[in-house]
Amino acid sequence: MSLESQFKNLAIHGDVLSHAAPANNDEWATILAGVSPVSFELTKTLVFKPKTPKSQDPVPVVVIALNSSNTPSSIVAKAFNAKDPRLANSELVAQFFNGIAPTDVGPLSVNAENASKIKVVLDAAIAGNALLAVRPSDASKTVFVKADDLVSYLNETGVEIITVDFTAAPAAPKQAAPAAPKQAKSASSKDDGKIEGAALIGITVDKEIDFPGWYQQILTKGEMLDYYDVSGCYIMRPASYSIWEIIQEYFNERIKSIGVQNAYFPMFVSSRVLEKEKDHIEGFAPEVAWVTKAGKSDLEEPIAIRPTSETVMYPYYAKWIRSHRDLPLKLNQWNSVVRWEFKHPQPFLRTREFLWQEGHTAHLTFEEANTEVLQILDWYESIYHDLLAVPVVRGKKTENEKFAGGHFTTTVEGYIPTTGRGIQGATSHCLGQNFSKMFNITVENPEGPEKPKLFAWQNSWGLSTRVIGVMVMVHSDNKGLVLPPRVAQIQTVVIPCGLTAKTSDEDRRAVKEGVLDIEHLLKKAGVRATSDIRDNYSPGWKFADWELRGVPLRIEYGPADHKKKQVVVVRRDNGEKAVVPLGENFVATIQELFETIQKDMFNKAKSSFDSHTKSVETLEEFVPALNKKCVLLAPFCGGMECEDDIKDRTARQGQADDEEVDDKAPSMGAKSLCIPFEQPELKEGAKCVGCGKPAKFHTLFGRSY
Ligand SMILES: [Zn+2]
Repeated sequence: MSLESQFKNLAIHGDVLSHAAPANNDEWATILAGVSPVSFELTKTLVFKPKTPKSQDPVPVVVIALNSSNTPSSIVAKAFNAKDPRLANSELVAQFFNGIAPTDVGPLSVNAENASKIKVVLDAAIAGNALLAVRPSDASKTVFVKADDLVSYLNETGVEIITVDFTAAPAAPKQAAPAAPKQAKSASSKDDGKIEGAALIGITVDKEIDFPGWYQQILTKGEMLDYYDVSGCYIMRPASYSIWEIIQEYFNERIKSIGVQNAYFPMFVSSRVLEKEKDHIEGFAPEVAWVTKAGKSDLEEPIAIRPTSETVMYPYYAKWIRSHRDLPLKLNQWNSVVRWEFKHPQPFLRTREFLWQEGHTAHLTFEEANTEVLQILDWYESIYHDLLAVPVVRGKKTENEKFAGGHFTTTVEGYIPTTGRGIQGATSHCLGQNFSKMFNITVENPEGPEKPKLFAWQNSWGLSTRVIGVMVMVHSDNKGLVLPPRVAQIQTVVIPCGLTAKTSDEDRRAVKEGVLDIEHLLKKAGVRATSDIRDNYSPGWKFADWELRGVPLRIEYGPADHKKKQVVVVRRDNGEKAVVPLGENFVATIQELFETIQKDMFNKAKSSFDSHTKSVETLEEFVPALNKKCVLLAPFCGGMECEDDIKDRTARQGQADDEEVDDKAPSMGAKSLCIPFEQPELKEGAKCVGCGKPAKFHTLFGRSY
């Protein structure tokens, strides 16, 4: 729905402003100060959840106020006789406001659809002709409306409003507010993308219709992650961290086989060191977070938090590497880095702090460095292919997209079928001698001290927790997570079934014992198995619960199975059922099934990627193909300006990222994903798709994350 039609009764002054999504209102004010054509008052919108008995649906209270007003929760409580209101968590906000994040909520998020389920506390200072800056359910946009118009708009939605004069508010009363009146159960209404009849515990938005809302629910309800009160930061819960541990184990084993050792360097870096490599730091400068204070006193010199560790580590490489016998030096660290981005954050894909590994190696020759860069890239590919069942394309980055300050960058690029966007999977850089010259990492010439000293050839390579987000987006469905068996924390769950009131105690006991025996048998063979013998839930409820968590295989066991010495297995990825005898080959059969599931999941994703990779020869074909969710393989000259031009010409101007209101005219232009290693043959005289000059190679283009 476009803003215009959603708020057609609301007079919006001027254009909708698009900008980076601020983390808080202070940042918002700073951004607007730089771009706003008019003077305005900033508003704030807070969603509170009053304390509600478990048997009742909560009725959130939305406080809409001038940013300058002091709005203590005690006054909010008093206004509606609400008990102990707390700021609503992101899940509740998503539930009442169509999947959006708390930072996206604005006055215009109150609409006819949710008006009956929420209440509004309105700041009495919002009145008259003053122009207000409000967010239209999207932190990366601002609209300006007159205060009186905003009040009329809110009234028209039918929401219950209490106006409060916050300036006249006395100090908060200490005694508890009286109990909230009993709320009538709110009538259910159909929201866009809402799945009808979805179990309450399950996913309530459709992947194809509301992808961001779906993604948020998948992660929170699947217990992969939780939202945090610092914008852009998230909590990795055991269900996702365990996947990271499996990746760590897999990758450690491989890199150690070529002599890489793990180490740890500090997260802090002095500005002097950080700014040493100019080209390099220019790429990161706007996102570097700085520590400027200790307690209340200012630091003499601000200290940066590493956005990556090249400049942290290389002074010590210079110190440690003296002779060519000190080469190669191969260190890796498993750590977190901070990049304070203002683009809309997305769990796993774009977060301000994220976990990764960064390998940094120094070699005597280019050949040695080059071999390693490609070896690491192969392992990155295999993490995607063999662990996560996600297909990726190996290739080289264009000049525009390569690592700042490096020699060349290799990459594995993935594809998200639902949005049709490419996504960078992991990168392995050959830094050349740029850094060794900057940091003076030299060795004496093996041919003799009279020959000039040699600068080391360096690589750096990194893979982050982003891989988990890509895996979730590619495989999961409207029932919840779908996890590949090789990385699932729980590979199979055994559930007792078919027990009714008529089942004899003997059968009941036999089934329960059987379930535990099966679990034990599988665990003994190294299968990550569990059982669910909770007797306060029905089998159907349990099925939905474990489907939500993405457990690859469900094993059902009931009285009939007990008699026949068998189990019924159900695959999470495609719902297929089969009977497996509880004989000698039982465990082997289950393990084979895991391998089949793993392979089928990869093949399904691969065929989707392949069928959406389109060869094109002209720029006119770009936008229609992008709109069909394709990535494009096109002849390209490799020029930096040409690539910028392609991006501009394939983008519709004036709309921000992530706001694809109308599918026919999405905002985002095509950028290069990579120059694939596997190249189709370049036709004789092939012209660059952008500028018409002779093409050098095929390049994969796409909208991307
Ligand atoms: Zn060109």
